[in-house]
Amino acid sequence: MSKKKGRVFSGARPTGRQHLGNYLGAIRNYVELQAEYDCVYCIVDLHAMTTLDQLHRIRLNTAEMALDWLAAGLRPEETILFVQSHVPQVTELHTILSMFTPLGKLTDLPTFKDKVRLQPQNINYGLVGYPVLMTADITLYKADVVPVGVDQESHLEFAREVVRTFHYRTGRQVLIEPQMKNTEFPKVLGTDGKRKMGKSEDNQIELALTPKETEKVVRTMVTDPQRQRRDDPGDPDVCNVFTLHKSFSSSDDISMIDRECRKAGIGCVDCKNLLAKRLNEHLQPFRERRSELAKDPQYVWEVLEDGARRATIVAAETIAEVKAAAGLT
Ligand code: SF4
Repeated sequence: MSKKKGRVFSGARPTGRQHLGNYLGAIRNYVELQAEYDCVYCIVDLHAMTTLDQLHRIRLNTAEMALDWLAAGLRPEETILFVQSHVPQVTELHTILSMFTPLGKLTDLPTFKDKVRLQPQNINYGLVGYPVLMTADITLYKADVVPVGVDQESHLEFAREVVRTFHYRTGRQVLIEPQMKNTEFPKVLGTDGKRKMGKSEDNQIELALTPKETEKVVRTMVTDPQRQRRDDPGDPDVCNVFTLHKSFSSSDDISMIDRECRKAGIGCVDCKNLLAKRLNEHLQPFRERRSELAKDPQYVWEVLEDGARRATIVAAETIAEVKAAAGLT
């Protein structure tokens, strides 16, 4: 792999067809990073198992997600795109690093406490070790940089701490302490205008919808709650339709809506129709490419297989160095 500014690693759980929240929060950034970094993007299927509620969908979700990423512009000839469990060295590194991680640190993490609250009936061993597996993901592929939003900074700091502990206890500097690349991941609200866009909330607008389906979903979006009638002036600053216009519409559209909404010069139906139109224009190349790629169902799996093969070359080197440092050879 040729060196650019360094190597970026990022992983995401297989959640199937991607929505606007995934696109604005991660995929767009993944595509842009390819210009400056060697990129390693991983579909973290083992992490997806910690909830045990969608096991039968992991394979399908993996294929759908990879297809969306490729259609959005990931270039598999330069970027490594693969599935976490296809490179088994990650579980080996996870076990080794877990010996260098105090249990109390894991159970004190706010993310673990959240999980305990969300799934009290299933507090499994994997859930506790989740951050160690994440550290193994990052360090196995010798990532220099990890793109993180503000809410993920503590995860990366945890990974850096595990690396430092490993180096201190073994006396060997074999892992890379990853740097954060702070990225502004906008929080994209769903069609309800209240909660973060997500499948579990059933408030998503999927990228791969048809233009008609997009219009239909956009029509259901909740707007400024104070605007009850067509003649009521609205406040675009509290309206999620306007937030999406800011990402997908022209500056002329945005200033027109900002001005006209406040004096009831534009109605919400017209404003939503315009948003659907802009979304459909923006997503048309993505949708065309997706349909083209989907004609060959094997294509995605070939890309993932090739990605795993290339990822394994780096992983095998790292695990050999780690084992030697830990006295396991
Ligand atoms: Fe929201 Fe547009 Fe309606 Fe204003 S006109 S409240 S920005 S949907």
